[in-house]
Amino acid sequence: MVRFDWDLGKVVGDKTAKVLANTLDLHTVGDLLRHYPRRYVQRGELTELSSLHDDELVTVVAMVKGVSKRSMKNRRGSILEAVVTDGTGELTLTFFNQAWRERDLRPGQIGLFAGKVGSYRHQRQLAHPDYEMFPDDVTDFREAAEKYADQIIPVYPASVKLPSWRVAKCVEVVLDSVGDLPDPIPDDVRRARGLPGLAEALEAVHRPKAIEKAWQAQRRLRYEEAFVLQTELARRRLSTAALPATPRAATPGGLVDALDERLPFELTEGQRRLGAEIAAELDTPHPMHRLLQGEVGAGKTVVALRAMLAVVDAGGQAALLAPTEVLAQQHHRSLTKMLGPLAQRGMLRDPEIGSDVGTRVALVTGSMSAAARREALLDIGLGDAGIVVGTHALLEERVQFFDVGLVVVDEQHRFGVEQRSALAAKSRDGTRPHVLVMTATPIPRTVAMTVFGDLEISTLADLPSGRADVATHVVPVDEKPHFLERAWQRVREEAAAGHRVYIVCPRIGDGDGDGEEDAASPAADDDRRRPVAVLELAEMLRSGPLAGVDLEVLHGRLPADVKDAAMARFASGEAPVLVATTVIEVGIDVPTASMMVIMDADRFGVSQLHQLRGRIGRGSIPGVCLLVTDAPADTSSRERLDAVAGTRDGFALSQVDLEQRREGDVLGAAQSGRRSSLKMLKVIRDVEIIQDAREAATAVVAADPELAEHPALDEAVRDVLAEQEADYLDKA
Ligand code: ADP
Ligand code: MG
Repeated sequence: MVRFDWDLGKVVGDKTAKVLANTLDLHTVGDLLRHYPRRYVQRGELTELSSLHDDELVTVVAMVKGVSKRSMKNRRGSILEAVVTDGTGELTLTFFNQAWRERDLRPGQIGLFAGKVGSYRHQRQLAHPDYEMFPDDVTDFREAAEKYADQIIPVYPASVKLPSWRVAKCVEVVLDSVGDLPDPIPDDVRRARGLPGLAEALEAVHRPKAIEKAWQAQRRLRYEEAFVLQTELARRRLSTAALPATPRAATPGGLVDALDERLPFELTEGQRRLGAEIAAELDTPHPMHRLLQGEVGAGKTVVALRAMLAVVDAGGQAALLAPTEVLAQQHHRSLTKMLGPLAQRGMLRDPEIGSDVGTRVALVTGSMSAAARREALLDIGLGDAGIVVGTHALLEERVQFFDVGLVVVDEQHRFGVEQRSALAAKSRDGTRPHVLVMTATPIPRTVAMTVFGDLEISTLADLPSGRADVATHVVPVDEKPHFLERAWQRVREEAAAGHRVYIVCPRIGDGDGDGEEDAASPAADDDRRRPVAVLELAEMLRSGPLAGVDLEVLHGRLPADVKDAAMARFASGEAPVLVATTVIEVGIDVPTASMMVIMDADRFGVSQLHQLRGRIGRGSIPGVCLLVTDAPADTSSRERLDAVAGTRDGFALSQVDLEQRREGDVLGAAQSGRRSSLKMLKVIRDVEIIQDAREAATAVVAADPELAEHPALDEAVRDVLAEQEADYLDKA
């Protein structure tokens, strides 16, 4: 009886095992059995060549008649054409610049071909079809069609060297020799949900007798992935809760109170509630592990700052980790500003501040000068800097804290669990720091439960009152060019009224590389024109529609002092218009800003647009946001922009954003690796499964934290961890 952890060589032979290892990274019996079919081809879908219609999606069994190769006339490159026949008709398969496929498509070979039917010069053709060639011993397509017609054929993720049918053969060999497999899902959990056992599910997913059996098996395998992952997350929550931490409580009359007095506004209900929740957790002898997510502009920064100050009050230090240098600098500036004199202990003597109330905010980034760095490190090591803001440079060995009690991570999907815990190692006497993770925009529940599943989740949903409306409009420049003229006119009016206007472009345009380091452009495509650039647009506006209006530019490659000066002139109103890249995306806070024009808006992601738009309507002045685009109507780009224009609800938009992204982008470093444990589960789609699996797994772990009663589950969890570990090491 073969086992999951056996090397494949023992079962399929060393030669085949080597190919499986080299081409598909499959090494063990378990690897192969978990290499699920991508889809299935069914009898009903087989079509005769004589009855094809244009635009139809078809799968045909046919024999290769001939293959020819030629160069293209007007472009560089080659065309490979193969003519196939099934006796009822002929069909041409065309491949551009894929001459190597000639090796697969040998005359006389029979195969399955799938694709969308088109016509070219009265010939039916499939451009770039999927195909699966049958083994050499299949020589009669009628026979082949008949033989395969009865079956549901699994189509595997395959490679040139190892076509799907060969993978299928190996899987069959393995399936025939495995016996009963220990099931990671506990029987009662499985039965209560009517899910098949593991052995049954693997058989049905690879060799379904009926397609419904395959779907049922997929559902079970999905549930299993969610359940195993949630078991691990539940265990992490439980073991974190058991670790020692130093309780940190704010001192009455200390920094938290001093900040509250300084704040120019009342805290919202949500800020108070979360603040109390966090404060209570900081005051326990076990580390807090909490996600703080919330609407753009909801005021997360002040919640985090109050938590940091509580720790400083209690004699500890707090670190704020930002994903980029620009963001670290912005955080440093805004915290220092919010704290005012409270951040100047030892720098100037202010009679109004008691000598014991106050701290310092240090900044550590990769690019700071050696001298500045040395000074910051000293402040941190001596504990003079109560708050330390930095990039991943903070994780380096050489940064020694005096006593770090709280780590705040400004997450944005960019830090993995590993980095989050790296700072934990820096605390004193074996205790763990408390951890607060912040997201820049709201994230859907399932993502929170998967990516941040080891954290408790707090949501800041209410916006501070008195926030003005922001009206958002899509401006299709190709259809309505005069709209843009009208937009520049409106910019002049806003400036004249004493308001501020942001104009955002996807690119810098200084000829030095392509864009802003942060400018994600999901729709990037080499064939399109280059996106609008800050420097070019600023020049055009100065000499044209905005002549006479003072205008500043801002982007990530300007020196820090130039950036500061530009922001200062903009904030003060000396220059009411700022043409910028996405450097303004996060953290910038100018309450008099009333208008934003986003050029080539389709180049930005939904959450990014939402975050950008969050820069206006922050005070009491109603805002207007224009999404300028040349994306044609009825495209998915326009749908995304319409979605942003249609709502200011970040949770709704985060769902739209999620649907647009690739799974790997969503899950980030922790789960997107080449050997991800999530093969079937889609965070976007499988909401109920994840929710249910989380509850079930939490219950199982609570009753049996060591999983002593569930050895198969324990092993599955270990496998997931080993994969994540391997991935992490690969990346490091
Ligand atoms: P985000 O949650 O997007 O990070 P910020 O923390 O940057 O939002 O806060 C947005 C703006 O709202 C800032 O100008 C901040 O000073 C202000 N703000 C925060 N809390 C309140 C409040 N309770 N009332 C009024 N304004 C507030
Ligand atoms: Mg923020």
